[in-house]
Amino acid sequence: MPAIEVFIPESQIQARIAELGAQISADYAGQTVVLVGVLKGSFMFMADLCRQITVPVRLDFIGTKSYEGTTTTGQVQLTKDLDRAIEDEHVVIVEDIIDTGLTLSYLKLLFAQRGPASLKVAAFLDKPSRRRVQVEGDYVGFTIEDKFVIGYGLDYDQRYRNLKDVCVMVG
Ligand code: 5GP
Repeated sequence: MPAIEVFIPESQIQARIAELGAQISADYAGQTVVLVGVLKGSFMFMADLCRQITVPVRLDFIGTKSYEGTTTTGQVQLTKDLDRAIEDEHVVIVEDIIDTGLTLSYLKLLFAQRGPASLKVAAFLDKPSRRRVQVEGDYVGFTIEDKFVIGYGLDYDQRYRNLKDVCVMVG
């Protein structure tokens, strides 16, 4: 069993998400937002972020697969599409982490072709030093150095998603 260390504590996560929610609520005043969570890593961020947004929201989820173990394959596959069309909707993609940027650039291109009224990105974490394609989040929780993080939705081999803090494995 690897030892686990807290990297971003729950209290700091929740405080930052309250700020992001307030910012999104102000930016979309008078409108309805469609939050699209990217499965599975974003599920906890989605749950906390949507409760901090005060404008009407609709939730949808999309499934992608691009990771095997701790190294990216460079391939993005759709494993689940949206349930409803996003034409003329104000869409915010809700991502766990922008790493190489491959997933997000794929999704932005895919969604842009579907004619949304607007398209933005909320990313819980951002690792800019790992970028292979140029893509940015509009709402970013924390910018972090190049570390493999787990917890708060993020897995190692499908485990640890339920941790309340963002953690790193040590030893
Ligand atoms: P991308 O490389 O396409 O930007 O990110 C693809 C996905 O890889 C992310 O949505 C996330 O699920 C996973 N990923 C990237 N970096 C990490 C990390 O540090 N920890 C974990 N657990 N998953 C990561």
